[in-house]
Amino acid sequence: MALRFYNTLTQRIEEFTPAHDNVVRMYTCGPTVWNFAHIGNLRTFTFVDILRRWLHARGYQLDHVMNITDVDDRIIQQALAAGKSLDEFTEVYTAAFLEDSAALRLERPEHLVRATRHIQEMAAAIQKLSEKSYTYQSEGSIYFRIAKFPEYGKLSHADFSGIRAGARVDTDRYEKDNARDFALWKAPKEGEPSWDTVIGRGRPGWHIECSVMAMKYLGETLDIHAGGVDLTFPHHENEIAQSEALTGKPFSRFWLHCEHLILSGEVMSKSLGNFLTLRDLLGQGFHPEAVRFMLASVPYRKKLNFTMDSMRSAEQAVERLRNFKLRLDTEKFSEGVNESLLESTRQALSRFDEALDDDLNTAEALAAAFELVREANSAMDAGEFHAANTQPANEFLARFDTVFDVLRPTGKETGIGDAEIEALIAERNQARQSKNFARSDEIRGQLHGLGVILEDTKEGTRWKRR
Ligand code: AMP
Ligand code: ZN
Repeated sequence: MALRFYNTLTQRIEEFTPAHDNVVRMYTCGPTVWNFAHIGNLRTFTFVDILRRWLHARGYQLDHVMNITDVDDRIIQQALAAGKSLDEFTEVYTAAFLEDSAALRLERPEHLVRATRHIQEMAAAIQKLSEKSYTYQSEGSIYFRIAKFPEYGKLSHADFSGIRAGARVDTDRYEKDNARDFALWKAPKEGEPSWDTVIGRGRPGWHIECSVMAMKYLGETLDIHAGGVDLTFPHHENEIAQSEALTGKPFSRFWLHCEHLILSGEVMSKSLGNFLTLRDLLGQGFHPEAVRFMLASVPYRKKLNFTMDSMRSAEQAVERLRNFKLRLDTEKFSEGVNESLLESTRQALSRFDEALDDDLNTAEALAAAFELVREANSAMDAGEFHAANTQPANEFLARFDTVFDVLRPTGKETGIGDAEIEALIAERNQARQSKNFARSDEIRGQLHGLGVILEDTKEGTRWKRR
């Protein structure tokens, strides 16, 4: 079956192909850089990464824009409180976001763009909306008149027709029952950053930022627009209103929304204060690949209930996969082929592909992988895994890792020195003597990840670099 996604706009699972040639034009809302990203935010960005990688695996090229929101209500408030300029303040969290993304192996979008670098284009878009009479002014701010856009509500599937014309909201973030004409442009305030533009001095609202940056780089109609589920309303609803009012064309064909990560029964959120960062987890000794695994393991339309246990299971799962890879790379198998295992490997591969085609069902894709690993491990233990089974198993793992990307340990890029290798081998021998096989396996795995292969002989342990 073909690749398909759940489209929030139509509330249906739909087959996906890009509108033009082989390129997927995609926009995803990026971080608001007023603090470190929490693992809830990172869940959404990991979903975007899995989406990217699967589109690639299915033969599409990507033209993907992600924004960095570096001006909005919260940022301004925090920067003022810290006594810093907007750029000084946001630079720190932008860098932190990029570091976290790299640690989680999130592919870089083709365009990573900052809102403050597109202010003039935003002002020009607002001017055009005014010419089309979608706006009105009040006390120096400019508002979008939602009554002028009868389709308002079509993404969040809510009926806003009873909204009183002229009722306004100034904050960027608000709830559905607070639907009002929203600020496109905010009047300058003493002490707050503002810009001189064709529509006067001021600063943009959050929603217009995404509309303008999306259309600048990707054209008037996108193939996919994605973000966290909390952005559906008002942010994405407002993006649709502004963009479609400007162009008269559908803004995005597909809308994909990632469900929340939950901590102790509540949505993880900075404003609630119940949040954990990637740095917190790494500080507790978890590996970034395990965090990536944990975030990717629950299909994106299901809530992810985070617990420390789920982190520990993710560590073990990654370990199991790596041990299997290690066995494939280092054990000697007898000639021949195990036909039934060969068939299982083929089936696992098609089940894996089918699962991801099915609206990125990562849980099912992982189940396919772990069932194969279990069967192949048992075959190895029973001496029934043969030399000709190695390549298909490796091919499966390679396919698996183009999406999940957890097999390679995060190591020193420069490699490891001979002395360090010898020291680790000595530690491993000691661990083996004291029957601490968990530690000795761990060291073997660690060295393997760094490209060092161990061979235990009667004369002792020999090693070579791959
Ligand atoms: P922000 O930095 O607040 O603009 O959020 C960045 C992304 O994280 C957005 O796509 C949000 O929808 C998403 N997000 C926020 N909280 C969570 C959560 N608890 N779980 C999953 N995604 C979230
Ligand atoms: Zn956005």
